[in-house]
Amino acid sequence: MITILGSTGTIGKNTLSVISKLKNKEYIFALTANSSSKLLFKQITQYTPQYAVIGDEVSADKLAILCKENNIETKILYGDSGLKYVVEHKRVESVVSAIVGAAALKPTLAAINKGKKILLANKESLIMSGSLMIKAAHKSGSLIIPVDSEHNAILQVITTFGLDYRDVRLNNTKINHITLTASGGPFLNFTQKQLSRVTPKQAVKHPTWKMGKKISIDSATMMNKGLEIIEASLLFNLDPKQIRVLIHPESIVHALVSFSDGSVISHMSNHDMRVAISYALSWPNRNNIDLKDLDLHNLRSLTFNKVKKNQFKCLDLCIKALKLGHNAPTVLNAANEVAVAKFLENKIKFADIPVIINHALDNMQIVKNSTLKSILTCDQLTRDRVSDYIKIKWK
Ligand code: NAD
Ligand code: MG
Repeated sequence: MITILGSTGTIGKNTLSVISKLKNKEYIFALTANSSSKLLFKQITQYTPQYAVIGDEVSADKLAILCKENNIETKILYGDSGLKYVVEHKRVESVVSAIVGAAALKPTLAAINKGKKILLANKESLIMSGSLMIKAAHKSGSLIIPVDSEHNAILQVITTFGLDYRDVRLNNTKINHITLTASGGPFLNFTQKQLSRVTPKQAVKHPTWKMGKKISIDSATMMNKGLEIIEASLLFNLDPKQIRVLIHPESIVHALVSFSDGSVISHMSNHDMRVAISYALSWPNRNNIDLKDLDLHNLRSLTFNKVKKNQFKCLDLCIKALKLGHNAPTVLNAANEVAVAKFLENKIKFADIPVIINHALDNMQIVKNSTLKSILTCDQLTRDRVSDYIKIKWK
């Protein structure tokens, strides 16, 4: 059975759409949401999971009453303990990690420690945990299957060739490097002056993908692609030098794998997250879910451009964090989450986001040999420091 963490989000809803197409709703063990109880209740009535988890006790009580009134047997839990219960339960084989941000770390790691198969959409938890999550997966035998479209694309190529995706370096003689594509976001050709004036409303409007607010802002700053470089290095055990980025505004080619004989194999599909979710659900096989065909004939062209030096400050900051290593990605992620939230609240400008992250990285203390406790402490400390910095600088 499967638990979907963050079922009311964009990835969560797409996952339920794929499961509906598979006509296999019996296999949903639990659905979870932070505060969208109305949508969660709608999903409960539609999918009748055994459990549903909401962020707080008051909302949980209200949901439980609603379920009782409608003769629905779904049990309602809440908070961290509820999430832990529905990922660790013995009937659960797979967990879709689709909560946004650092909040996914604890339940995802709990599932990994129990050896569950993880369908990982949430990249923040992997990035902030350094190698902790990967090491835990090696120890428990948990498989981490990427849902992020670029990483899922690489998984598709590597699996097709019968190679081990968890350590691409073991296939060293065959794979030279990989390329992640990036749409470039809504402000690809904006000047610095234009960038200084963009509003949250413009920034959440992605040109190709329909996504939650936080990842849409990350895509607009290109932080998302930087995070994905770190994600790829961890998931596939790649040397950062083996990871390249190409701007591809049409979002049709999701990733390319370059082999040592000069061949480059890429994965193409419409920009529809259900393609990646379906493959993650069925890996190493394929589902038959009848999604729209890719119509190359009707696409006027596919274009690819190099990322210019200093073009995207947030992308450069991710490389900086990767080079600093240890807990630097934890600091990078926490500072970005705070900065993005403040931008969405109109407290800072779009161009301030990289300034804030850079300040956090320049003032961080390196902590070697991270543990879950040290990661959570570093995450909280960075959030507090960044919030104070913003309060003082942007009064
Ligand atoms: P979203 O904002 O649409 O949904 C987030 C979900 O997480 C919701 O169900 C919400 O209730 C839940 N949530 C939020 N805060 C929580 C908390 N503190 N505790 C428990 N639950 C909480 O986000 P999304 O676009 O679906 O993205 C989810 C994750 O998937 C992100 O990490 C994102 O980077 C990754 N991802 C998304 C896409 C995409 O196309 N949307 C693509 C690749 C990767
Ligand atoms: Mg992606």
